[in-house]
Formats: sequence, structure tokens, C-alpha cells
Amino acid sequence: MSLHCCCGRCKNRVQSPWFRQDRETGPRLPERMKTMKLGFYGAAHEVTGSCTLIEAGNVKGIVDFGMEQGKDLFVNRPLPVAAGDLDFVLLTHAHIDHSGMLPKLWKDGFRGPIYATRATCSLCEVMLRDSASIQEQEAEWRNRKAQRSGSGQMEPVYTLEDAENVLRLFRPCSYSQGVQVNDHVSIRMTDVGHLLGSAAIEVWLHEGGETRKVCFSGDVGNTNQPILKDPQCVAEADCVVIESTYGDRLHSTVRVDYLTELAERIQRTLDRGGNVVIPSFAIGRTQEILYFLRQIQERGMVRGHGDFPVYMDSPLAIEATGIFLQCDTDFVDEQMQREIRSGINPLVFPGLKLAVSREESVAINEDRTPKVIISASGMCDAGRVRHHLKHNLWRPECMVLFVGYQSVGTLGRVLVDGAESVKLFNETVQVEAEIETLPGISGHADRDGLLAWLQGFREKPEFVMVNHGDPDACEAFTECLKRDYGYRAFAPFSGAEFDLLEKCWISFPEGEAIVRESSGNAGRKSSPAFLELIETVEKLLRTARGLEGHANRELRGYTESLKKLLAKMEK
Ligand SMILES: [Zn+2]
Ligand SMILES: [Zn+2]
Repeated sequence: MSLHCCCGRCKNRVQSPWFRQDRETGPRLPERMKTMKLGFYGAAHEVTGSCTLIEAGNVKGIVDFGMEQGKDLFVNRPLPVAAGDLDFVLLTHAHIDHSGMLPKLWKDGFRGPIYATRATCSLCEVMLRDSASIQEQEAEWRNRKAQRSGSGQMEPVYTLEDAENVLRLFRPCSYSQGVQVNDHVSIRMTDVGHLLGSAAIEVWLHEGGETRKVCFSGDVGNTNQPILKDPQCVAEADCVVIESTYGDRLHSTVRVDYLTELAERIQRTLDRGGNVVIPSFAIGRTQEILYFLRQIQERGMVRGHGDFPVYMDSPLAIEATGIFLQCDTDFVDEQMQREIRSGINPLVFPGLKLAVSREESVAINEDRTPKVIISASGMCDAGRVRHHLKHNLWRPECMVLFVGYQSVGTLGRVLVDGAESVKLFNETVQVEAEIETLPGISGHADRDGLLAWLQGFREKPEFVMVNHGDPDACEAFTECLKRDYGYRAFAPFSGAEFDLLEKCWISFPEGEAIVRESSGNAGRKSSPAFLELIETVEKLLRTARGLEGHANRELRGYTESLKKLLAKMEK
């Protein structure tokens, strides 16, 4: 069947008989007997805030419900379904940009099951509680500020209680296990080697005797990484939704010997009496570094410092490490499985010390023994690592070793770019320490890795939808799929909906870029009340856009009310 498209953007399009531009004067839409569709509502031309709606028959569910982090580029259209009307959630992995808004979903009325692998469920237990604490602290901080300026109070996006409640809805699955979600939906998860428990999810949708299969890649991992298996392939699908974080880039082809590189840097720093501070994400990267450090100590690769002390200073990282050690062995790669079978604890070694309390964290810098300190956050924009930077950055004998990507605007990036001094806790700190980067570690497949995963399908999927990438990356990857490999590939913006039975786009909107604050306001801080007003007006516009097709009487009613409000505001 050829592609029908009514988006106004695609070439060779055919007007779908189901679509009417003029709902007011045209004939009424025929009552659809079957519905089976995909709706793109998050991480569309963006890397964070993942969320895709799936619908079959009378059931609706979402794949991932992530938090938007960092720079927000496009307006995310609101889900056209109330949280309480969603029947289920499928979760690809525990990262906050995929799972972080689940407590909010509970707060808004969702009570259905959330399917995820067993390891993802365990990681979400610590991550969502941690995220809820951050939300509560942030609201408290803002409210203290608001109280002083006499403005209104705000409530946290969600609370610890919301997180505890949503965690009760999790249904753990194993890799390769078929799960019947309901009469219209069944699923299976496959290891994609991106984070402990990360999965591509195959989804079979059944409706009126027809079946369509959609496969969601989640985040596809890199090959030859420690602890995790390489991404596993999936046999077939009608439609694939694939990430594109590195869709326009290739990782270096030079094989990095992480152990030697890391050991050399530690040797150099400890020899001159300094500390190595490693800013690291608490979950995933920290465990990889522990895995390397254990081998370095075991093999005596750093000489003259015995079992040098390694502090893991992050309560979240400590909890997550416990999960890595307790999970079923089929979540880790062959090498780690072999080590566990032969009685080796792969992430623990004699020099390892844990700092849970604030006092233990402070004590680390009182002890002058040269050491390694691993602390979050990985980009230095929050967390305990900032204290360690304050104590170590000004000391030329020390080293700050970056082991992950540093995005623009973060303190980590400022340091990597060679700043001579930085501000920490309202103090200027000179950068005298050696700033180093350990190359080659990445949790994401590059362009060729994504292509390899896609080409692992025995039969070419009929459609490929590209999401989870900055505009350049996702457009370039889509173009490459179309031009060089002959896929029917699309990069939808938020709000796009695809009919899986008719194989056509129901809507394919343009991206709505987020307008930054006007230059007339530069330098002045807006009050929380003003920002809340703007946020509400923006939400109003998004909601209004979603009302297209509603009864004219209803729409005119809203317009009249809004005109009255506008007249009042203009006075
Ligand atoms: Zn991820
Ligand atoms: Zn992601």
C-alpha cells in the first residue's frame, strides 16, 4: 500500500479519505470502526522528555514519560488523553529523561500498570525517589524566595509520596518474555545495552482482526562497553521508532584502552600528592569507573600507592551500585557474569570507601592522603562534586578527570574549555588543577551503531520514525536513512499522529520553536507571579490548538470568555 499523507509537507502525497480540512462545511467524518495509531508528544526533535502515545481499539498507552532537561527547543503538545484515561505505560529504561515524569502521571490520576525490565524497576526505585526529593527541595527554595518578595507559593512538580505511589504500579518483565498487556496489546523487551535493564520494546497491536507491530528502540547502547552487553537485534516490525542522539556523528574508531589511560592519569596525580576528582553520573558511568578501578587495583597498575583510597561520594550512586550487584546476571555481559561466577565482586575492591552522610563527605577533604573521589553530578552543575571542586581546583597537584559528555552551559563544559577561574558557592576559585578528559566512553550508539541496529531487522521495516535527537542529528539521520538506505523515514515534531492501519499521517505539524525572553527584559529578573502568568498563557495556547474540530458553539464560548479576560488585562 502506498503512503497517503495529508501533512502538506511530504511529496507525492495522496489526500486521505479520512481527513477533512474543512470540518465546518464539509461532510461529517465517517465513524471510524478501527483505530490504531502512534502519537509523538515528547523528544520530537529534542533529546529529552521522551513520550510516544500508542492506541489500539479502545485502549491507550504511552511509551516512556520523561522529564525535559537542559535546553528546551520546541513546544511539546500536551497529551490528548487525560492521565486517568491511559491504560498502561511501557518504559524503555530508567534514565530520568525517559522515566522522570511518571510520579506526575500518578499525581494526575494514572493508575494502570507500568511495564519495565526488572533492573529498570529497581533503578527507578532509587532514581524517582531522588528526583522527587529534588523537586521538593526546589519548590521549597523557590517558596522561600517568593515569601520574601511577597509573591505566590508553588507546589513541587511531584512529591516523594507521588513517587512511592507510582512505584507500586511497576510490573517487572524479563528480556525475551512475551507479555500480554491487554486484549489489544502485547509486548516483548530486548536488551539494547545502554543502561542496566535498558530495552527496545516490541509492541504488537491487535484490532478487529488486524495486527501491526511497532518496535521502540529506546536509547541504543554503544558496543564494547564494560558491564553491559552489546545491543541485541530485533527480528521484524512494521514500524520502528528509533532514537538519534548521535545520528549525525561517529565515535572515534581508535580503540581506547580505558584501563591504561585511567591508570596513567591516577599514577601521575597521586605521585605529585594530589587528588583525582571524577565528576560522574551516579547511575551507569560511576559503576563503569568502579569496574575499571577494581581491575586497576587488582592488577597493580598504579605503583607505589598500594590500595589507594577511592571515595564514592554520592548516596544515589551507592544505592545504584547495590542494584548493579544484586540484579540477575542476564542483565550484564559475559565477562562480568564470569567474574561473578568465580566469586569476584566486580564493583568492590579494598581501597573503596563510601560516603553516605554529609559529614562523611566533608571529611574526605580533611584527609590529605592522595585519593580518587567519584562524585555526582557528571556535569558539575549540582551535587556534592561542587564541594570537591572547591577544595581541589586551586591545587596544581590535583586533577579533575571528566569521563562523560559535557553539554554547553554547564560548569563541566566551562572547565573543559579551559576557564582560568570559576565561581563556586559565591567564591571565585582559581583553576590550577590539571583538567583532563577520558576519551571514548559513550552510552549511546553513534550513527553507524544505530544503522547496524536497524539493519539487524531481518526484513526492512515499512516505516522508520526518528526521534530523541537534536534537530540537526535527527534530521541528518532521517535524511541518511531515506537517501542512502531507502527507508521511508520521518522525523515528526510534537503533535504528529500516524495511522498504523491506513499507513498515513493523521497530522504532521511543524515544530513550534520556544521563544526566549524578549531583549527588552534583559538583565531584569521576572517575578515568579509573572512567569507563572506567562506559563499559563502558553499552556492556554497549546490547549486551544488541541481543540481543533470541537463543536463551534463550544469554541465560540471559550473565545468570548477569553476576550472578556483580555479586555480586563488591557485596562
Ligand atoms: Zn538513556
Ligand atoms: Zn534518552
